[in-house]
Amino acid sequence: MPPKSRLGQNFLRDQQAIRRIVAALGDCAGRTVVEIGPGLGAITRELAAKVGRVLALEVDRELASSLSAEFAGNAEGRTTPESNVQIEAVDVLAFDFAAASAAAGQRLIVAGNLPYYITSPILLRLAENAAVLDRAVLMVQREVADRVTAAPGSRDYGLLSVTVQMHGPVEPLFTLPPSAFSPPPKVHSTVFRWRFAPRFEELGVNREEFLRFARQVFALKRKTLANNLRAAGIESTAAVAALSDAGIDLKARAESQSAEALARLWKCLQKAGATSSDEVAPANY
Ligand code: SAM
Repeated sequence: MPPKSRLGQNFLRDQQAIRRIVAALGDCAGRTVVEIGPGLGAITRELAAKVGRVLALEVDRELASSLSAEFAGNAEGRTTPESNVQIEAVDVLAFDFAAASAAAGQRLIVAGNLPYYITSPILLRLAENAAVLDRAVLMVQREVADRVTAAPGSRDYGLLSVTVQMHGPVEPLFTLPPSAFSPPPKVHSTVFRWRFAPRFEELGVNREEFLRFARQVFALKRKTLANNLRAAGIESTAAVAALSDAGIDLKARAESQSAEALARLWKCLQKAGATSSDEVAPANY
């Protein structure tokens, strides 16, 4: 079966990296690990040996069925009922994490060398399901990991950083060159860990409204927060008053503001009845 580039099929062939990804998950005895995009099963095999149960989600039906044959039986077709690997031929974006967590009776752990063409949608889907997730170790394109893990004021900090980090702390672990994969992608790849611990309650903001606000204030690149607020339909005087109440420089850009500062600003706007429900589409993660 030739790899399908439209499905982001760059298979990891570096055994040490595979071991490091699984080790980075920590103790998974008795735990269910959801693997996103098992592909040829390189990470799946290591997971099967180290964790309680693996639920692997593969959209490519051909790959899913050969993995099912490998893990549910063997080449001769004899079944091994004790297999701790279950392969689901599904699109991860349509997968019901809440139901899987309820069935497992625990918060899920997630692992995966993600298909790069849908990295942001997958990260957003995991964020949406943060309440039923415990932690994740994910491989993504290096530039995406840089954005996910960026600190306020740094070159890579933006909407993706705030959105992901509002759902829990992230840390980069290691980077691999294209030669670690077959076929080699055009980019370097970085593995990062994400511990799900949503911050909305702690910061006193409503999740959906705050995330929409984040999309609004990061909508126009290189523009000030005040300009972005105006573009979202918030009156200039209300925007200026809220910025000063929140202790934020009137010329500041969202790219220099921490999640705490943005939460303060949102609350000041809300107190003044000046939030906006306009979507400044399309959101640029
Ligand atoms: N885990 C394997 C490895 O490391 O060698 C494969 C990783 S490869 C980068 C990404 C995998 O995700 C491919 O097997 C691809 O078919 C699968 N995939 C692509 N889109 C998907 C989707 N929407 N849902 C689930 N799996 C998907």
